[in-house]
Amino acid sequence: MTDRYAVIGNPIGHTKSPAIHAAFAEATGQNMQYEALLAPLDGFAGAVDAFRAAGGRGMNVTLPFKLDAAAYATRLLPAAALAGAVNALMFDGPAAVADNFDGAGLLRDIVANLGCAVRGQRVLLVGAGGAARGALRPFLDHYPAEVVIANRDPGRAAALARETAADGAVSATGFDGLRSLGGFGIVVNATSASLHGAMPDIPASVFGLGCLAYDMVYGKGLTPFLQLAQDAGAARLADGVGMLVEQAAEAFAWWRGVRPDTAAVIARMTVPLA
Ligand code: NAP
Repeated sequence: MTDRYAVIGNPIGHTKSPAIHAAFAEATGQNMQYEALLAPLDGFAGAVDAFRAAGGRGMNVTLPFKLDAAAYATRLLPAAALAGAVNALMFDGPAAVADNFDGAGLLRDIVANLGCAVRGQRVLLVGAGGAARGALRPFLDHYPAEVVIANRDPGRAAALARETAADGAVSATGFDGLRSLGGFGIVVNATSASLHGAMPDIPASVFGLGCLAYDMVYGKGLTPFLQLAQDAGAARLADGVGMLVEQAAEAFAWWRGVRPDTAAVIARMTVPLA
């Protein structure tokens, strides 16, 4: 029987995950099926139970169910526990194991695809939601000089910094505090502002000489954040398409035991930034 996987969310019509996983399955010769599953807003657990009963082996989880998936899981792996959010589930009999590959996907895109070393860099993480939480530990694993978390609500940034204080040089600020912090080598927009054509109110001075400016949102072209970075002279601009494909590759490898090549899929999905 063909193994079944799915991405679950609400809404789900926009998802690119079935196309990505179909490309991975074809390239690696895996006999599997991957579909998009729309679950009722108050019916996450029921929809997952039904999928498992029909032979489902694993799932990606997208908005608004990343916290429901954490509650549903019988075991949270460390990245999911720190992020407080789940983006992948694997089912094994009665067990539902949960992980979060967003941060691993981001770092793989930055380091392997964009060729940007993190070691010794000053990193600015703008945002303190689930995506920023997921990115923080993977950044620290690459030994940056420091990570500054800046958020519109500074209290959320401070809370996240406190949780990881023992793991590296992490500090927090509101956007105003950025004016006195100079330039960073890597600036990541982990807010959802670009989804609405808005941008976090950060100063252009954060984009240091030779800086990589990375917007986690994908498919939106030159977002206001990337435009500001370009105007400020950032050396490299990237959106989140590589992160999206790399987190999918991590989940695929977890489920199937084989890591797909990502370059062709990223190239096919890339929307020019200009
Ligand atoms: P989330 O948990 O809802 O957090 C949203 C964050 O954005 C918060 O820090 C919030 O600040 C901030 N924010 C929203 N609008 C803002 C504005 N106008 N100005 C300044 N800050 C604003 O969302 P998330 O799950 O972390 O996702 C964040 C973004 O990452 C989304 O756009 C998502 O599409 C993207 N993402 C991409 C990938 C990928 O594979 N490429 C994966 C995951 C997420 P407050 O705390 O002050 O409200």
